[in-house]
Amino acid sequence: MRQARSAAWAPPPPGATAHFTDLCVKCGLCVKACPFGTLKLAGIGDPAPAGTPYFVPRDVPCEMCEDIPCVRVCPSGALDRRMQDIKKAQMGIAAVDPVSCLSWQGLRCEVCWRVCPVRDKALTLVPHPRQISKHAVFVPTIDPDHCTGCGMCTKSCPTEVSAVNILERKSFLGRIGEHYRLSWKTNQPYHPHIPAKDAAPQTAPVAPAGLDYLNSEEGL
Ligand code: SF4
Ligand code: SF4
Ligand code: SF4
Repeated sequence: MRQARSAAWAPPPPGATAHFTDLCVKCGLCVKACPFGTLKLAGIGDPAPAGTPYFVPRDVPCEMCEDIPCVRVCPSGALDRRMQDIKKAQMGIAAVDPVSCLSWQGLRCEVCWRVCPVRDKALTLVPHPRQISKHAVFVPTIDPDHCTGCGMCTKSCPTEVSAVNILERKSFLGRIGEHYRLSWKTNQPYHPHIPAKDAAPQTAPVAPAGLDYLNSEEGL
């Protein structure tokens, strides 16, 4: 059975907190502060709660201002004024439609990669086998840890309807679960036994990861 799709959604400004909709007092100060005309206040029928700021990436993306003026002027805490680094913003997540993406068809487009402000971190080009020949294609691939959802890729995609779009992170992203061990990764935020890369060293012994664990006789 098909799941009902969530209501229309559009990305909020950077720094939107978990209680953004409740805390926003709909003053429009962030809209006024945005030098690129990215933000607008939602009216009835727009893809955001009425009166709250949002943007349409295909029309005007977020230019990721280093001084983040929209966040600085928010009086209510709906946008987190402690945000210092625009590259940590999580306005949404870019998702590529391989059926309409030119690079996936083997055409060297890569426009989204060129315009991405977090290029080679948020958006990388990854070799992928091509079905009709032995040559590889280079396809845009998104890293959710670095993609800010700015929408520069969506704005620039040359296809008739953009092949890369900004989606709501909580609707799109999955979660691998704490019981999987990805021993080749150095930073696993959800893993209870493998500390984050910059975490303080653990005093308790840490179980060997992945295959090492399976091959170990410890605890068997
Ligand atoms: S970061 Fe800059 S471009 Fe993006 S919404 Fe804020 S003020 Fe506008
Ligand atoms: S700009 Fe659009 S068509 Fe070109 S590689 Fe990116 S997603 Fe594909
Ligand atoms: S939304 Fe697109 S352009 Fe912006 S950081 Fe993510 S991949 Fe890069």
